[in-house]
Amino acid sequence: MLFVKSDEPMTQASDRWEKLRQEILVCQRCPLAQSRTQAVPGVGPPTARLVIIGEAPGYREDVQGEPFVGSAGKLLTKLLEQAGIKRESVFITNVVKCRPPENRQPTQSERKSCHSYLIRQLEHIQPKVIALVGRVPTETLLETRGSMGALHGKSFERNGRTFFVMYHPAAGLYNQTLVPIMEEDMRKLKKLLEKTADSGDQQEEGQLPLSDFFSNQKK
Ligand code: SF4
Repeated sequence: MLFVKSDEPMTQASDRWEKLRQEILVCQRCPLAQSRTQAVPGVGPPTARLVIIGEAPGYREDVQGEPFVGSAGKLLTKLLEQAGIKRESVFITNVVKCRPPENRQPTQSERKSCHSYLIRQLEHIQPKVIALVGRVPTETLLETRGSMGALHGKSFERNGRTFFVMYHPAAGLYNQTLVPIMEEDMRKLKKLLEKTADSGDQQEEGQLPLSDFFSNQKK
C-alpha cells in the first residue's frame, strides 16, 4: 500500500486533501465570501517540495479559480522556468483564498480567518521550502517587519523549516528594473531547493507541527 510522509494510507491523505479544498470552496468565514466569484484554494501537487505563497487572488484568479494566472502569474511562470523550476511541480496559493474588492490588501481580520486553511495545506504538503512572495505573506508567516528591499533573496529558518522571501511578481510589472533582481532571487531559490534535496522527509527532533508553531507565534 502506498503511504504519504506521515505513514497515512494514500487514499486517506487524498480524501483529506480534497475535503480541505471543498471546505475552502464553500467557506463563508469572512466578508470576502460575499464579493468573490469563487474561492481559489491553490494549485499544484499535494506532495510539492516547494510551496509559493502570495497575497490574495486578483481579478483573473477570481474568474478562473486558479492563483497567479494574470500578468503577474505569467511573469512568475517565466521566472520559475528560467531558473529551471517547473511550475507544475510547485504548489501555489495565497494567504487569503478569496479576492479582496478592488484588489485591496486583505485586512488582518481576513488573514486571520483564512490562516488555518494555509496551515492545513502546509501541514499536508510538508514542503522543503516555503517561498513568500511580497510583504503580506512575509508578515503573516514570518512575523518579520521590514522592507521587501531588505528582505528579498534571504532565507529564514523557523522551527526547522526553510522560508525564502521574494518580491511579488506584480512588483516587476510596475518596476522593470526589479526583474533582474527577481531572476537572481529565483536562482537562489533553486539552489536552496537543491540543497534540501537529500535531507529526507522526516520531522526534525524538537520540531513542532506547523499548527502548533504558528499558534505559539501568535501568542
Ligand atoms: S478569504 Fe478565506 S476565510 Fe475568507 S471567505 Fe475566503 S476562504 Fe473563507
